[in-house]
Amino acid sequence: MRRLMALVAALAVLAGLTGCGMEPADPDTAQESIQVIAMDTVMIFKIYGEKSTHAAYAAEDEVRRLEALLSRTDAGSQVSALNDAGGQPVTVDGEVLRLLNAAGLYSEVTGGAFDISIAPVVSAWGFTEDAYRVPGQTELDELLTHVGMEHVHAETADSAWLDEGTRIDLGGIAKGYVTDRIAEILEENGVPRATVSLGGNVLAWGDRPDGTPWLVGIQDPARPDMADGFAGYLSLKDAFAVTSGGYQRYFEENGKRYHHIIDPATGYPADSGLTSVTVVADCDREGNGGLPGQGTMCDALSTALFVMGEEKALEFWRTSGYDFDLVLVTADGRVVVTEGIADVFAPDEASGYSYETVS
Ligand code: AMP
Ligand code: MG
Repeated sequence: MRRLMALVAALAVLAGLTGCGMEPADPDTAQESIQVIAMDTVMIFKIYGEKSTHAAYAAEDEVRRLEALLSRTDAGSQVSALNDAGGQPVTVDGEVLRLLNAAGLYSEVTGGAFDISIAPVVSAWGFTEDAYRVPGQTELDELLTHVGMEHVHAETADSAWLDEGTRIDLGGIAKGYVTDRIAEILEENGVPRATVSLGGNVLAWGDRPDGTPWLVGIQDPARPDMADGFAGYLSLKDAFAVTSGGYQRYFEENGKRYHHIIDPATGYPADSGLTSVTVVADCDREGNGGLPGQGTMCDALSTALFVMGEEKALEFWRTSGYDFDLVLVTADGRVVVTEGIADVFAPDEASGYSYETVS
Protein backbone atom coordinates (compact mmCIF):
# COMPACT_ATOMS: atom_id res chain seq x y z
CA MET A 1 0.00 0.00 0.00
CA ARG A 2 1.70 3.14 -1.18
CA ARG A 3 -0.83 5.79 -0.30
CA LEU A 4 1.89 8.26 0.57
CA MET A 5 2.98 8.39 -3.03
CA ALA A 6 0.29 11.02 -3.54
CA LEU A 7 2.29 13.34 -1.35
CA VAL A 8 5.45 13.04 -3.41
CA ALA A 9 5.96 15.95 -5.75
CA ALA A 10 6.02 15.00 -9.42
CA LEU A 11 7.56 18.32 -10.32
CA ALA A 12 9.94 20.21 -8.08
CA VAL A 13 10.91 23.83 -8.34
CA LEU A 14 14.63 23.87 -7.74
CA ALA A 15 17.14 26.48 -6.75
CA GLY A 16 19.36 27.43 -9.65
CA LEU A 17 21.85 24.90 -10.90
CA THR A 18 25.38 26.02 -11.51
CA GLY A 19 27.68 24.55 -14.11
CA CYS A 20 26.86 20.96 -14.89
CA GLY A 21 26.54 19.77 -11.31
CA MET A 22 23.74 19.99 -8.80
CA GLU A 23 25.37 22.59 -6.63
CA PRO A 24 22.71 25.12 -5.73
CA ALA A 25 23.34 28.79 -6.46
CA ASP A 26 22.19 31.41 -3.98
CA PRO A 27 18.90 30.24 -2.58
CA ASP A 28 15.98 32.30 -3.78
CA THR A 29 14.40 33.72 -0.69
CA ALA A 30 10.77 34.38 -1.34
CA GLN A 31 9.14 37.16 0.60
CA GLU A 32 6.36 34.78 1.62
CA SER A 33 6.60 31.03 1.55
CA ILE A 34 3.76 28.84 2.79
CA GLN A 35 2.95 25.16 2.73
CA VAL A 36 -0.66 24.08 2.39
CA ILE A 37 -1.89 20.51 2.71
CA ALA A 38 -5.08 20.14 0.74
CA MET A 39 -6.54 18.01 -2.06
CA ASP A 40 -4.34 15.11 -0.93
CA THR A 41 -1.29 17.15 -1.87
CA VAL A 42 1.52 19.07 -0.23
CA MET A 43 1.36 22.49 -1.87
CA ILE A 44 4.13 25.08 -1.69
CA PHE A 45 3.61 28.73 -2.57
CA LYS A 46 6.66 31.02 -2.81
CA ILE A 47 5.56 34.53 -3.51
CA TYR A 48 7.45 37.78 -4.05
CA GLY A 49 6.43 41.42 -4.11
CA GLU A 50 4.87 43.94 -1.77
CA LYS A 51 1.63 42.03 -1.41
CA SER A 52 3.25 38.61 -1.15
CA THR A 53 1.78 37.75 2.25
CA HIS A 54 -1.70 38.80 1.28
CA ALA A 55 -1.45 36.93 -2.03
CA ALA A 56 -0.14 33.74 -0.37
CA TYR A 57 -2.99 33.57 2.12
CA ALA A 58 -5.56 34.53 -0.52
CA ALA A 59 -4.23 31.61 -2.59
CA GLU A 60 -4.57 29.29 0.41
CA ASP A 61 -8.16 30.47 0.99
CA GLU A 62 -8.91 29.83 -2.66
CA VAL A 63 -7.51 26.29 -2.49
CA ARG A 64 -9.73 25.56 0.51
CA ARG A 65 -12.79 27.12 -1.13
CA LEU A 66 -12.30 25.02 -4.27
CA GLU A 67 -11.61 21.85 -2.31
CA ALA A 68 -14.91 22.34 -0.43
CA LEU A 69 -16.71 22.92 -3.74
CA LEU A 70 -15.16 20.17 -5.86
CA SER A 71 -14.05 17.35 -3.57
CA ARG A 72 -15.65 14.02 -4.17
CA THR A 73 -14.98 12.84 -0.62
CA ASP A 74 -16.43 15.92 1.07
CA ALA A 75 -20.13 15.16 1.58
CA GLY A 76 -20.98 18.86 1.51
CA SER A 77 -19.41 19.64 -1.88
CA GLN A 78 -21.38 20.41 -5.02
CA VAL A 79 -19.71 17.45 -6.70
CA SER A 80 -21.01 15.17 -3.92
CA ALA A 81 -24.46 16.72 -4.29
CA LEU A 82 -24.38 15.79 -8.00
CA ASN A 83 -23.06 12.30 -7.27
CA ASP A 84 -25.71 11.64 -4.62
CA ALA A 85 -28.69 13.07 -6.51
CA GLY A 86 -29.83 9.81 -8.09
CA GLY A 87 -30.39 11.33 -11.52
CA GLN A 88 -32.13 14.50 -10.27
CA PRO A 89 -31.05 18.05 -11.23
CA VAL A 90 -28.94 19.91 -8.68
CA THR A 91 -28.42 23.66 -8.43
CA VAL A 92 -24.71 24.37 -8.88
CA ASP A 93 -22.50 27.44 -9.24
CA GLY A 94 -21.65 28.78 -12.68
CA GLU A 95 -18.04 28.01 -11.86
CA VAL A 96 -18.85 24.30 -11.48
CA LEU A 97 -20.81 24.36 -14.73
CA ARG A 98 -17.88 25.93 -16.57
CA LEU A 99 -15.55 23.28 -15.20
CA LEU A 100 -17.94 20.47 -16.16
CA ASN A 101 -18.16 21.90 -19.65
CA ALA A 102 -14.38 22.18 -19.88
CA ALA A 103 -14.12 18.55 -18.77
CA GLY A 104 -16.65 17.66 -21.48
CA LEU A 105 -14.60 19.47 -24.10
CA TYR A 106 -11.34 17.73 -23.12
CA SER A 107 -13.14 14.41 -23.12
CA GLU A 108 -14.43 15.05 -26.62
CA VAL A 109 -11.13 16.20 -28.12
CA THR A 110 -9.20 13.29 -26.57
CA GLY A 111 -11.64 10.68 -27.83
CA GLY A 112 -12.79 9.92 -24.28
CA ALA A 113 -9.31 9.31 -22.83
CA PHE A 114 -10.08 12.06 -20.33
CA ASP A 115 -13.39 11.32 -18.64
CA ILE A 116 -14.52 12.64 -15.25
CA SER A 117 -17.34 10.06 -15.24
CA ILE A 118 -14.68 7.39 -14.66
CA ALA A 119 -15.40 7.92 -10.92
CA PRO A 120 -17.23 4.62 -10.19
CA VAL A 121 -14.33 2.71 -11.74
CA VAL A 122 -11.72 4.67 -9.77
CA SER A 123 -13.73 3.76 -6.65
CA ALA A 124 -13.95 0.09 -7.62
CA TRP A 125 -10.14 -0.02 -7.63
CA GLY A 126 -10.23 1.58 -4.17
CA PHE A 127 -8.38 4.77 -5.05
CA THR A 128 -11.08 7.04 -3.65
CA GLU A 129 -11.47 5.37 -0.26
CA ASP A 130 -7.94 3.95 0.12
CA ALA A 131 -9.39 0.43 0.01
CA TYR A 132 -7.35 -1.04 -2.80
CA ARG A 133 -8.57 -4.12 -4.67
CA VAL A 134 -8.63 -5.59 -8.16
CA PRO A 135 -12.26 -5.58 -9.35
CA GLY A 136 -13.64 -8.46 -11.41
CA GLN A 137 -14.42 -8.10 -15.11
CA THR A 138 -18.21 -8.43 -14.62
CA GLU A 139 -18.14 -5.63 -12.07
CA LEU A 140 -16.05 -3.40 -14.37
CA ASP A 141 -18.28 -4.12 -17.36
CA GLU A 142 -21.34 -3.04 -15.39
CA LEU A 143 -19.66 0.12 -14.08
CA LEU A 144 -18.42 1.08 -17.55
CA THR A 145 -22.03 1.29 -18.78
CA HIS A 146 -22.33 4.43 -16.60
CA VAL A 147 -19.08 5.98 -17.88
CA GLY A 148 -19.17 8.52 -20.70
CA MET A 149 -19.82 12.24 -20.87
CA GLU A 150 -23.21 11.62 -22.49
CA HIS A 151 -24.33 10.79 -18.94
CA VAL A 152 -23.27 14.22 -17.61
CA HIS A 153 -25.70 17.08 -18.27
CA ALA A 154 -24.48 20.62 -17.67
CA GLU A 155 -26.24 22.62 -20.37
CA THR A 156 -28.48 24.87 -18.27
CA ALA A 157 -27.47 28.15 -16.58
CA ASP A 158 -27.66 27.06 -12.96
CA SER A 159 -28.09 23.31 -12.66
CA ALA A 160 -26.60 20.03 -13.73
CA TRP A 161 -27.43 16.38 -13.36
CA LEU A 162 -25.93 12.96 -13.85
CA ASP A 163 -27.75 9.90 -15.16
CA GLU A 164 -28.47 7.35 -12.47
CA GLY A 165 -25.38 5.27 -11.71
CA THR A 166 -23.02 7.90 -13.12
CA ARG A 167 -20.62 9.69 -10.80
CA ILE A 168 -17.91 12.26 -11.42
CA ASP A 169 -14.39 12.73 -10.09
CA LEU A 170 -12.61 16.00 -10.88
CA GLY A 171 -9.25 14.71 -9.57
CA GLY A 172 -7.77 14.83 -13.06
CA ILE A 173 -8.53 18.51 -13.62
CA ALA A 174 -9.24 20.31 -10.31
CA LYS A 175 -5.66 21.18 -9.35
CA GLY A 176 -5.09 22.64 -12.80
CA TYR A 177 -8.14 24.83 -12.30
CA VAL A 178 -6.79 25.85 -8.88
CA THR A 179 -3.55 27.01 -10.51
CA ASP A 180 -5.55 29.08 -13.01
CA ARG A 181 -7.34 30.75 -10.12
CA ILE A 182 -4.08 31.32 -8.25
CA ALA A 183 -2.62 32.95 -11.38
CA GLU A 184 -5.55 35.39 -11.23
CA ILE A 185 -4.85 36.10 -7.57
CA LEU A 186 -1.17 36.76 -8.33
CA GLU A 187 -2.15 39.12 -11.12
CA GLU A 188 -4.69 40.97 -8.93
CA ASN A 189 -2.02 41.49 -6.26
CA GLY A 190 0.65 42.71 -8.65
CA VAL A 191 2.93 39.79 -7.76
CA PRO A 192 6.02 40.07 -9.97
CA ARG A 193 7.30 36.52 -9.47
CA ALA A 194 6.24 33.33 -7.70
CA THR A 195 6.32 29.58 -7.84
CA VAL A 196 3.20 27.64 -7.03
CA SER A 197 3.63 23.91 -6.66
CA LEU A 198 0.68 21.56 -6.21
CA GLY A 199 2.46 18.22 -6.44
CA GLY A 200 2.32 17.49 -10.15
CA ASN A 201 0.95 20.94 -11.03
CA VAL A 202 3.44 23.81 -11.13
CA LEU A 203 2.97 27.45 -12.04
CA ALA A 204 6.20 29.35 -12.74
CA TRP A 205 5.13 32.99 -12.52
CA GLY A 206 7.53 35.58 -13.87
CA ASP A 207 11.23 34.84 -13.52
CA ARG A 208 13.72 34.46 -10.65
CA PRO A 209 14.99 37.56 -8.84
CA ASP A 210 18.20 37.44 -10.87
CA GLY A 211 16.25 37.47 -14.13
CA THR A 212 16.82 33.82 -15.02
CA PRO A 213 13.93 31.38 -15.48
CA TRP A 214 12.66 29.08 -12.75
CA LEU A 215 14.13 25.61 -12.85
CA VAL A 216 11.54 22.84 -12.63
CA GLY A 217 12.69 19.25 -12.16
CA ILE A 218 10.63 16.44 -13.69
CA GLN A 219 10.55 13.52 -11.27
CA ASP A 220 12.03 10.31 -12.64
CA PRO A 221 9.04 7.89 -12.58
CA ALA A 222 11.48 5.01 -11.98
CA ARG A 223 12.85 6.68 -8.82
CA PRO A 224 9.82 8.32 -7.23
CA ASP A 225 11.16 7.97 -3.70
CA MET A 226 14.33 9.94 -4.44
CA ALA A 227 14.10 13.66 -3.82
CA ASP A 228 16.84 14.25 -6.41
CA GLY A 229 15.80 11.59 -8.92
CA PHE A 230 14.98 13.61 -12.01
CA ALA A 231 14.35 12.66 -15.62
CA GLY A 232 15.17 16.20 -16.75
CA TYR A 233 14.76 19.89 -16.05
CA LEU A 234 12.71 22.69 -17.56
CA SER A 235 13.67 26.37 -17.40
CA LEU A 236 10.34 28.14 -17.30
CA LYS A 237 8.99 31.66 -17.09
CA ASP A 238 5.26 32.43 -17.05
CA ALA A 239 4.33 28.84 -17.67
CA PHE A 240 2.30 25.96 -16.31
CA ALA A 241 3.85 22.49 -16.14
CA VAL A 242 1.69 19.54 -15.16
CA THR A 243 2.80 15.93 -14.77
CA SER A 244 0.65 12.80 -14.68
CA GLY A 245 2.25 9.49 -13.83
CA GLY A 246 1.25 6.07 -12.64
CA TYR A 247 3.96 6.27 -9.96
CA GLN A 248 2.08 9.06 -8.18
CA ARG A 249 -0.45 6.65 -6.68
CA TYR A 250 -0.57 2.89 -6.93
CA PHE A 251 -0.86 -0.38 -5.06
CA GLU A 252 0.59 -3.80 -5.64
CA GLU A 253 -1.18 -7.15 -5.52
CA ASN A 254 0.34 -10.53 -6.36
CA GLY A 255 3.45 -8.81 -7.65
CA LYS A 256 1.53 -6.64 -10.10
CA ARG A 257 1.28 -2.88 -9.87
CA TYR A 258 -2.02 -1.05 -10.38
CA HIS A 259 -2.04 2.76 -10.64
CA HIS A 260 -4.68 5.46 -10.45
CA ILE A 261 -5.05 6.66 -14.04
CA ILE A 262 -7.75 4.56 -15.62
CA ASP A 263 -8.27 3.93 -19.32
CA PRO A 264 -12.02 4.51 -19.80
CA ALA A 265 -11.93 2.08 -22.72
CA THR A 266 -11.00 -0.87 -20.50
CA GLY A 267 -11.66 0.12 -16.89
CA TYR A 268 -8.07 -0.91 -16.11
CA PRO A 269 -5.12 1.30 -15.19
CA ALA A 270 -3.79 2.73 -18.45
CA ASP A 271 -1.05 0.55 -19.88
CA SER A 272 0.16 2.73 -22.71
CA GLY A 273 3.93 2.38 -22.47
CA LEU A 274 4.32 5.79 -20.80
CA THR A 275 5.45 6.25 -17.21
CA SER A 276 4.83 10.00 -17.11
CA VAL A 277 3.53 12.84 -19.21
CA THR A 278 4.38 16.49 -18.56
CA VAL A 279 2.35 19.13 -20.37
CA VAL A 280 3.79 22.66 -20.56
CA ALA A 281 1.91 25.76 -21.70
CA ASP A 282 2.33 29.52 -21.45
CA CYS A 283 0.61 31.39 -18.66
CA ASP A 284 -0.69 34.63 -20.09
CA ARG A 285 -0.12 37.22 -17.34
CA GLU A 286 -3.06 39.32 -18.49
CA GLY A 287 -5.39 36.39 -17.97
CA ASN A 288 -6.09 33.38 -20.07
CA GLY A 289 -9.14 34.77 -21.81
CA GLY A 290 -11.46 33.50 -19.09
CA LEU A 291 -11.48 30.49 -16.84
CA PRO A 292 -10.90 27.57 -17.05
CA GLY A 293 -7.57 28.48 -18.60
CA GLN A 294 -4.23 26.97 -19.54
CA GLY A 295 -3.59 25.37 -16.14
CA THR A 296 -6.82 23.44 -16.46
CA MET A 297 -5.93 22.48 -20.01
CA CYS A 298 -2.50 21.17 -18.98
CA ASP A 299 -4.04 19.08 -16.20
CA ALA A 300 -6.76 17.52 -18.37
CA LEU A 301 -4.33 16.84 -21.20
CA SER A 302 -1.61 15.31 -19.00
CA THR A 303 -4.11 12.74 -17.74
CA ALA A 304 -5.55 12.11 -21.20
CA LEU A 305 -2.22 11.82 -23.03
CA PHE A 306 -0.93 9.42 -20.37
CA VAL A 307 -3.89 7.17 -21.25
CA MET A 308 -3.39 7.63 -25.00
CA GLY A 309 0.30 6.65 -25.14
CA GLU A 310 3.27 8.05 -27.05
CA GLU A 311 2.08 7.76 -30.61
CA LYS A 312 -1.42 9.17 -30.09
CA ALA A 313 -0.12 11.83 -27.69
CA LEU A 314 2.36 13.12 -30.29
CA GLU A 315 -0.31 12.98 -32.97
CA PHE A 316 -2.56 15.05 -30.69
CA TRP A 317 0.27 17.51 -30.04
CA ARG A 318 0.78 17.95 -33.78
CA THR A 319 -2.85 18.23 -34.89
CA SER A 320 -5.13 19.33 -32.03
CA GLY A 321 -4.58 23.07 -32.41
CA TYR A 322 -3.98 23.41 -28.64
CA ASP A 323 -0.86 25.35 -27.78
CA PHE A 324 1.30 23.19 -25.50
CA ASP A 325 4.47 21.11 -25.41
CA LEU A 326 5.32 17.73 -23.94
CA VAL A 327 7.91 15.72 -22.08
CA LEU A 328 7.06 12.02 -22.27
CA VAL A 329 8.91 9.41 -20.23
CA THR A 330 8.54 5.91 -21.65
CA ALA A 331 8.68 2.54 -19.96
CA ASP A 332 11.46 1.51 -22.36
CA GLY A 333 13.83 4.18 -21.08
CA ARG A 334 13.37 7.18 -23.35
CA VAL A 335 12.52 10.81 -22.70
CA VAL A 336 10.72 12.41 -25.64
CA VAL A 337 10.61 16.22 -25.78
CA THR A 338 8.56 18.20 -28.29
CA GLU A 339 10.47 20.85 -30.19
CA GLY A 340 8.70 23.90 -28.72
CA ILE A 341 10.48 23.35 -25.38
CA ALA A 342 13.64 21.65 -26.63
CA ASP A 343 15.67 24.80 -25.91
CA VAL A 344 14.45 25.05 -22.30
CA PHE A 345 14.78 21.34 -21.50
CA ALA A 346 17.94 19.88 -19.98
CA PRO A 347 18.52 16.13 -19.60
CA ASP A 348 19.74 14.56 -16.39
CA GLU A 349 22.86 12.79 -17.57
CA ALA A 350 22.90 10.48 -14.55
CA SER A 351 19.35 9.21 -15.14
CA GLY A 352 20.24 6.56 -17.72
CA TYR A 353 17.51 7.69 -20.14
CA SER A 354 18.09 8.33 -23.81
CA TYR A 355 16.73 11.66 -25.03
CA GLU A 356 14.91 12.54 -28.24
CA THR A 357 13.42 15.74 -29.61
CA VAL A 358 10.43 15.38 -31.91
CA SER A 359 8.82 17.80 -34.33
P1 AMP B 1 -3.90 13.37 -12.76
O1 AMP B 1 -2.96 13.18 -11.62
O2 AMP B 1 -4.23 14.80 -13.05
O3 AMP B 1 -3.49 12.64 -14.00
O4 AMP B 1 -5.32 12.80 -12.32
C1 AMP B 1 -5.48 11.48 -11.91
C2 AMP B 1 -6.77 11.39 -11.15
O5 AMP B 1 -7.88 11.66 -12.04
C3 AMP B 1 -7.04 10.00 -10.59
O6 AMP B 1 -6.55 9.88 -9.28
C4 AMP B 1 -8.56 9.91 -10.66
O7 AMP B 1 -9.12 10.59 -9.56
C5 AMP B 1 -8.89 10.68 -11.91
N1 AMP B 1 -8.83 9.88 -13.15
C6 AMP B 1 -8.33 8.63 -13.35
N2 AMP B 1 -8.42 8.27 -14.63
C7 AMP B 1 -8.99 9.31 -15.29
C8 AMP B 1 -9.35 9.56 -16.65
N3 AMP B 1 -9.12 8.66 -17.62
N4 AMP B 1 -9.91 10.76 -16.95
C9 AMP B 1 -10.13 11.69 -15.99
N5 AMP B 1 -9.81 11.53 -14.70
C10 AMP B 1 -9.25 10.36 -14.35
MG1 MG C 1 -4.65 15.77 -14.81
